[in-house]
Amino acid sequence: MRNLLLLSLVLFWVPSLLAQDEAEILKHFHSITAEEVFGYAKTLSEPQFDGRLAGSPGYTKSAEWVAAHLKEWDITPGYGQTYFKHFPQDYTVVKSIGSFSATFVDKKGNTIEKTYSFPEHYFPGSNSANGTVKGELVYVGYGITAPQHNYDDYKNVDVQGKIVLIEPGHPQPETAKEWNDWAEYAGSSEKMTNAVKHGAKGVLYISKLASPGMKYHEGLVYCHIDKKVVEEFFFARNKDYKNITEALKTKNKPQSQSLEHIINITADTEYKANGSYANVIGIIPGSDPQLKDEVIMVGAHLDGQGNLGELFPGALDNASGVADIMAAARALSNLPAPKRTIAFFFIGAEEKGLLGAREYAKDPLFPKEKTICYINLDMVGNGTGLYFGGGSSFPDIYKHFETANTNYIHRPLKTRYLNRSYKGRPRTDGMALLQEGYRALSVHCTDRVKKLYYHHPADTPETLVPEIMEDVSKWLYLGLYSLANADSIDLNEVMEEN
Ligand SMILES: [Zn+2]
Repeated sequence: MRNLLLLSLVLFWVPSLLAQDEAEILKHFHSITAEEVFGYAKTLSEPQFDGRLAGSPGYTKSAEWVAAHLKEWDITPGYGQTYFKHFPQDYTVVKSIGSFSATFVDKKGNTIEKTYSFPEHYFPGSNSANGTVKGELVYVGYGITAPQHNYDDYKNVDVQGKIVLIEPGHPQPETAKEWNDWAEYAGSSEKMTNAVKHGAKGVLYISKLASPGMKYHEGLVYCHIDKKVVEEFFFARNKDYKNITEALKTKNKPQSQSLEHIINITADTEYKANGSYANVIGIIPGSDPQLKDEVIMVGAHLDGQGNLGELFPGALDNASGVADIMAAARALSNLPAPKRTIAFFFIGAEEKGLLGAREYAKDPLFPKEKTICYINLDMVGNGTGLYFGGGSSFPDIYKHFETANTNYIHRPLKTRYLNRSYKGRPRTDGMALLQEGYRALSVHCTDRVKKLYYHHPADTPETLVPEIMEDVSKWLYLGLYSLANADSIDLNEVMEEN
C-alpha cells in the first residue's frame, strides 16, 4: 500500500519521468543517509587536509580526495582525462599562533603590560610577513584613502614605522551605486596595501576571524583582534570607542588619532609564492540528442581557511556544501542518464576572493548560453528549513525543487528573487557568477539550531546537523534529476516588483 502511494506520488510529480524507473529513483533516494553526508564533511574537516587552504598541499589533497570519489562513482571527468583545472596560487604557512601584546600608556604616562591570547583576543594574520614588529599604535578608522570621494583616514596622522589599527567596512553612502563606488577601497587587502603605502610596519585589523584573502606584503606583520581589545585601548586613553565608531559611521569623517600604546606583534610564517589549486568538475552527461548540451551546474567551494598554528576545520564553511553535493552526485550516478547534463563543481580559492569561480567564468567548460543555471551551496549544514535563493525569478526551475520538497522532504521551504541590486563586492561564488551573467541560484538552510563559528577554529563537525544535510542532499538529488529531465524549461526571468 505504502509503495503504491509513493509510486502514485512519483507519477504525479514528475510527468517527465514516466518512462523512467520510479522505484529506481526512490531506491537511490533512500540510499542517501545522514551518516554518509555527515561522514564526507567530517573527513574533509580532518587535520590530514590542514584546513584546505587554496594553494597549499592540504587543499590539493582534498581535491584529490573528492575526485577519487567521483571516479569511484563513474562520474565523468570534466576536463577530458582529469577532473582538475589548475591555477597558480601563493599562500602563507602559519607555523604557530605567534603572539600579540601591548604596553598601555595611561593619562599619567604610567605603563602596564598586557599579553593577549588566541583565540579569545586575537587570530594570527593568514598572510602576515614573518617576524616581530613593535611600535606606537595609531587608530586610522577604515584605513581608506579615496581621492575621488575626498576622503582620507591618513590625512592628519603620521604612521611612519608605526602600527595602525584598522576598522572593517567603509563610510556608509546612501545609494547602491555609491556602495559600488566604495567597494574598491573596502577590501581588507586594499587597506593593507594602503597602510604599507603610508609607511606602517604593522597592522591590527579589527574583526577577529581567519581571512585568507588578505594580500601578503613583504615586511608587514599583522593580526586580527577582538573588539573587546579595541575598547580597552580607547578606555585606557579615557576615550569612548563607541562614540568614535558612531562618528565614523554617521558623519563619514575620519576619526584617526594616535593611541600611544606600544604594540608588539610576532608572526611565525613562511610565504610560498609557488602554490597552486584546482577547480574540480565531474559530470553526468545528458542522453537526449537535443538537450544533452544543456547543463545544470551545482557547486560548492572546497577550500577553507587553512591552519593558523591551529586547525581551522571549515566544517560548515564549506565541507558541508561539498558533502551535500557529493552524496547527491553519488546517488544520481546510479540512475539512467538524464536528458540534460548535470555538472558538479567543487570550487577552489573562494576564501582567497572568489578566485576559482572567476577563473571558471573567464574560461568556462560549458558555454554560458547552454548553462541552464548554477546552484551554489555555501555553509549548508545547520538549520531546520530550506531556502532556494532566486527561485521566484525562475519559477520554471524552482518548481522542480518545490515539488520534490512537498512530496518527499517536507521541510519548511522559502524562496526569493535574485538579488539584482546587491550593494558592494560579491561575497559568494554564486554572486560572482551572477555578475558574469549566469543564472546563479543558491541553496541554504534556515532557522539555525547550532552556534555559528564563522572562520573560527571551532567550525568543527560538531556544529553540523546531519539530518538537514541528508535532506538537502536528497532534495538536490530529486530536484536536479527532475530539472534535467524536463521536456522544456522556461528561462525567462520574472522581475521583482518594487
Ligand atoms: Zn564559504
